[in-house]
Amino acid sequence: MPGTGKTLNLGDVYVAICLISAIAGGVIGQRKGSSFFVWFVISGVVPALGPLVAAVYRRETEEPLRICPGCGAAVRHYDALCMRCGTDLDYPSEEELIGPDPAMKVRARL
Ligand SMILES: [Zn+2]
Repeated sequence: MPGTGKTLNLGDVYVAICLISAIAGGVIGQRKGSSFFVWFVISGVVPALGPLVAAVYRRETEEPLRICPGCGAAVRHYDALCMRCGTDLDYPSEEELIGPDPAMKVRARL
Protein backbone atom coordinates (compact mmCIF):
# COMPACT_ATOMS: atom_id res chain seq x y z
CA MET A 1 0.00 0.00 0.00
CA PRO A 2 1.61 3.30 -1.02
CA GLY A 3 1.40 6.07 1.50
CA THR A 4 1.17 3.75 4.49
CA GLY A 5 2.11 5.65 7.63
CA LYS A 6 1.50 9.00 5.98
CA THR A 7 -2.27 8.74 5.54
CA LEU A 8 -4.62 9.72 8.34
CA ASN A 9 -5.13 7.13 11.02
CA LEU A 10 -8.54 5.57 10.28
CA GLY A 11 -9.25 5.23 13.97
CA ASP A 12 -8.70 8.93 14.53
CA VAL A 13 -10.89 9.77 11.54
CA TYR A 14 -13.67 7.54 12.88
CA VAL A 15 -13.48 9.16 16.33
CA ALA A 16 -13.63 12.61 14.70
CA ILE A 17 -16.67 11.59 12.62
CA CYS A 18 -18.39 10.20 15.73
CA LEU A 19 -17.67 13.39 17.66
CA ILE A 20 -18.96 15.68 14.88
CA SER A 21 -21.99 13.44 14.44
CA ALA A 22 -22.63 13.40 18.19
CA ILE A 23 -22.51 17.19 18.43
CA ALA A 24 -24.71 17.62 15.34
CA GLY A 25 -27.26 15.14 16.71
CA GLY A 26 -27.16 16.75 20.14
CA VAL A 27 -27.79 20.22 18.71
CA ILE A 28 -30.66 18.95 16.51
CA GLY A 29 -32.19 17.09 19.44
CA GLN A 30 -31.86 20.09 21.75
CA ARG A 31 -33.44 22.44 19.21
CA LYS A 32 -36.54 20.29 19.03
CA GLY A 33 -36.83 20.45 22.80
CA SER A 34 -35.32 17.06 23.54
CA SER A 35 -32.23 16.26 25.57
CA PHE A 36 -28.86 17.32 24.11
CA PHE A 37 -27.14 14.54 26.03
CA VAL A 38 -29.47 11.75 24.83
CA TRP A 39 -29.04 12.68 21.17
CA PHE A 40 -25.32 13.33 21.69
CA VAL A 41 -24.92 9.72 22.88
CA ILE A 42 -27.21 8.23 20.19
CA SER A 43 -25.45 10.16 17.43
CA GLY A 44 -22.01 9.27 18.78
CA VAL A 45 -22.81 5.55 18.91
CA VAL A 46 -24.56 5.57 15.51
CA PRO A 47 -22.75 8.26 13.49
CA ALA A 48 -24.62 9.74 10.52
CA LEU A 49 -27.77 7.81 11.43
CA GLY A 50 -28.14 9.53 14.82
CA PRO A 51 -28.47 13.10 13.50
CA LEU A 52 -30.78 11.77 10.78
CA VAL A 53 -33.04 10.16 13.38
CA ALA A 54 -32.93 13.35 15.45
CA ALA A 55 -34.02 15.33 12.37
CA VAL A 56 -36.82 12.88 11.54
CA TYR A 57 -37.92 12.79 15.18
CA ARG A 58 -38.10 16.56 15.12
CA ARG A 59 -40.32 16.48 12.05
CA GLU A 60 -42.61 13.97 13.76
CA THR A 61 -43.26 16.39 16.59
CA GLU A 62 -44.63 18.83 14.01
CA GLU A 63 -47.58 16.50 13.46
CA PRO A 64 -50.88 17.63 15.00
CA LEU A 65 -51.21 16.60 18.61
CA ARG A 66 -54.07 16.02 21.00
CA ILE A 67 -54.43 15.95 24.75
CA CYS A 68 -54.85 12.54 26.39
CA PRO A 69 -58.15 12.53 28.35
CA GLY A 70 -56.59 10.18 30.90
CA CYS A 71 -53.49 12.05 31.97
CA GLY A 72 -53.44 15.33 30.02
CA ALA A 73 -50.26 14.50 28.11
CA ALA A 74 -49.83 15.71 24.53
CA VAL A 75 -49.87 12.66 22.25
CA ARG A 76 -49.68 12.32 18.47
CA HIS A 77 -53.10 12.44 16.84
CA TYR A 78 -52.71 9.02 15.22
CA ASP A 79 -51.68 7.23 18.42
CA ALA A 80 -54.25 4.62 19.46
CA LEU A 81 -52.81 4.35 22.95
CA CYS A 82 -51.40 6.97 25.33
CA MET A 83 -47.70 6.27 25.80
CA ARG A 84 -47.79 7.68 29.33
CA CYS A 85 -50.90 6.24 31.00
CA GLY A 86 -52.10 3.57 28.55
CA THR A 87 -55.53 5.10 27.89
CA ASP A 88 -57.17 3.86 24.68
CA LEU A 89 -57.61 6.80 22.33
CA ASP A 90 -60.34 7.12 19.72
CA TYR A 91 -59.48 9.08 16.61
CA PRO A 92 -59.83 12.73 17.73
CA SER A 93 -62.31 15.20 16.27
CA GLU A 94 -60.93 18.34 14.62
CA GLU A 95 -61.33 20.56 17.69
CA GLU A 96 -59.37 18.11 19.82
CA LEU A 97 -56.30 18.48 17.61
CA ILE A 98 -53.71 21.01 18.66
CA GLY A 99 -50.84 22.46 16.67
CA PRO A 100 -47.21 21.32 16.51
CA ASP A 101 -46.18 23.53 19.44
CA PRO A 102 -47.86 21.68 22.31
CA ALA A 103 -45.95 23.39 25.14
CA MET A 104 -47.71 26.71 24.55
CA LYS A 105 -51.19 25.30 24.05
CA VAL A 106 -51.00 22.79 26.87
CA ARG A 107 -49.98 25.60 29.20
CA ALA A 108 -52.86 27.75 27.92
CA ARG A 109 -55.34 25.01 28.77
CA LEU A 110 -54.15 24.50 32.31
ZN1 LIG B 1 -52.51 9.44 29.03
